[in-house]
Order: sequence, then structure tokens, then C-alpha cells
Amino acid sequence: MSESKKHRDHRELGQEMDLFSFHDVAPGAPFWHPKGMIIVKELEKFIRKLQDDHNYTEISTPIMVKQKLFEKSGHWEFFKENMFYFDVENETYSLKPMNCPESALVYQTKIRSYRDLPLRLAEIGRLHRNELSGVLGGLLRVRQMTMDDAHIYCRFDQIKQELVSVLKMTEEFYKHLGLPVSYGLATRPKKAMGSKEKWSEAEKILGEALTELGLKYKILKGEGAFYGPKIHFDIEDSQKRIWTIATAQLDFQLSDRFELEYIDEKGIAQRPVIIHRAIFGSFERFIGILLEHFDGALPFWLSPVQVAVLTINEKVLDCAEKVYKELKEKNIRVELDARNETIAKKIRESEIQRVPYILVVGEKEMKENKVAVRERGKGDVGTMNIDEFIKKILN
Ligand SMILES: [Zn+2]
Repeated sequence: MSESKKHRDHRELGQEMDLFSFHDVAPGAPFWHPKGMIIVKELEKFIRKLQDDHNYTEISTPIMVKQKLFEKSGHWEFFKENMFYFDVENETYSLKPMNCPESALVYQTKIRSYRDLPLRLAEIGRLHRNELSGVLGGLLRVRQMTMDDAHIYCRFDQIKQELVSVLKMTEEFYKHLGLPVSYGLATRPKKAMGSKEKWSEAEKILGEALTELGLKYKILKGEGAFYGPKIHFDIEDSQKRIWTIATAQLDFQLSDRFELEYIDEKGIAQRPVIIHRAIFGSFERFIGILLEHFDGALPFWLSPVQVAVLTINEKVLDCAEKVYKELKEKNIRVELDARNETIAKKIRESEIQRVPYILVVGEKEMKENKVAVRERGKGDVGTMNIDEFIKKILN
């Protein structure tokens, strides 16, 4: 593969692989095509499973809410230039730029006891942030994003264990993708809410959680959010670019602003601490990064089409259909290409789609009850019967 062919822009790959499109009626917001949506759904499935394993529950909150909610949370003061807002029936509404304030409203619907904590509320929320149209760039810089967000409400003495759990999830997620993560600890910025003492205390706990898991980290001076310090999750892609993918942020402010409480062992009302966390941040940006990193050749579990079955001619159609059905029954994402085109053309098109396995059914293979297997990156790997093939790919 030539150098120029290797480092492709995700927009080009997205078009070639038929994953998404952009239209001038919605700058900074992708239209997902069926194949792109498979990637979104697989990521969703994986993160939901991870959250189940780590005892999260899931909520969903409105996209359009009154400005007064964001005044209460402090976003109006600190984040207004990044928000979309407009009047409806003489009141100002905003498209949520973050899920946190609404998550806090869900917390408040019940009296919470110390025994209820930690309460881990996940939300795959759709957010809008105002970026100038001139700086928008494919999936990497968008106005509308979908986050794998969560808020953990816990007691002060639970902060470290919760951060350790978040870091374990992060390690597990990136291991599954074969991407090593590096960590950064972002400290107090100039424009910040809360006392310096609280900030130092919080920064210390973040550092301890990282150290407990033996994870090395860099100090990112002044890069924290206005409401608390955070841990950055960075990855280095195949082009040696560093991306901050997501964060875990400690927040002592939101509970105060929303007067959140839990009742402690002595029956006294206390403020919970909030941890905001995302494992891969926005689906849009993350998929853009993955596409460029893998040059479209996504891991098998994320590939929109996992196996393509190609026919040599019409005589083998029944046999190819049988192979197709068997794979489909095993929940493998399979496509059958029975067009009256040359096999070379069909192979080339499947390769452009970065399909991990291409099965060619010819008359010889049909007689032997086998398929000829082509593996992405390796080419022809010989013939095998379908059970052998299934065993190979599901291992
Ligand atoms: Zn949040």
C-alpha cells in the first residue's frame, strides 16, 4: 500500500464505505447510513454491556430544556458561547450541551440514603454545541454529538473506588480495540468555581486512583474543567497523533448548585460528590478517529459487513445462498453478491468495503462442499468447509 493511500481522511473512507454523509442543511451533524449505524450500534452494545457489568443503570433526558436549568448549573455563565438557545412562547430554551444538570434532576426525584450510593446513572445523550461553521470538519468537529456519558453520585469516601472502577472500564474498552491509552491529570484552570483547597484535595484523589492501578500519568496544568479536575484518556493513533478521547471529572460544585442530598448513617443530610465520565466521548469523533487509525479496516466486531459471499456464476447460486444463510443464523453480518459481474470486480468492491472475510463460491468449491476464503490483509488463505470457517472466525 502506498503512503498516500495509507493515511486517508475519514470523510473519504466514510463515503467509500457508505457509512455516513453530510448535507448543507445540517452543518456539523452527520447523517448515518445503514452501514455506519452498525458501527454506532456495536459501540453502544459494547459500552452498555460494560456498564451492566459495572452496575450502572441508564436514563434518558430531554434535548431541549429551559435556559434557567443551565443558569442553575453554571453553564450559562461559563459555557454560554458554546450553546444554542432560542425563544419559545417568550421563554429562552437551550439545546443541552451536556447531560449533567438533567441527570441531577433525576437524582433529586427521591430521598437518597447513604446505602443507595454510589448511584451510577448512564446516558447515551445527544448534545449540541455551537462551533463556528468554518471550523467544522467531518466527524472530528461537529455541532451535534452523541456521548457515552455517565454520572456517578457517591460519598466522599467512595470517590477513589469509583475512579478505579472507571479506569478499569477504560482499560477493558481500549484493550478490546487494541489501542493503548495514556492518562493525564488536568488541574485547576484560571476560570474556576470553588475553593483552592477543595481543588487540591480532588486532584490528590485522582492521582491516587491512577497510582493504585499502576497507571502512569502526566500532569496537565490548568486544563481542568471550571467545576473540577479531571483525568484525560488519550490514545495515539497509527499516524502518531495524540487524541484526548474522553475524561473522568470530579465535581464538588453541581451538588451544591442543585442542593443534592443523601441521608448519612446519623440521619444527617450530606452533599454527594459527582463524577462525570465518558469512556470514548462522542460516537461521532471516536468513529472518525477509528476510521483513520485503522484506515477503514475496523476490527471484526465493528465491521459493518463481516463476511461477503461471492458467486462465480449462476450455477453456484443455491450453494452460495446456503452458505449465506448458515452464516446469518450464527449472527454474522454477511452479504451475498450474486450479481452477474466478474469475480475480480466483486472481490475488488468487497475489499474497498474493508470486509474482513470474502468467501468465493465456484463450481469446484461447490462440488467439494467448500468455500475459497480471502482474509483482509492476507489475501487467499485456501479453501475450507463452512463449519471450519465459522469456527475460525468466531474464535
Ligand atoms: Zn456531566
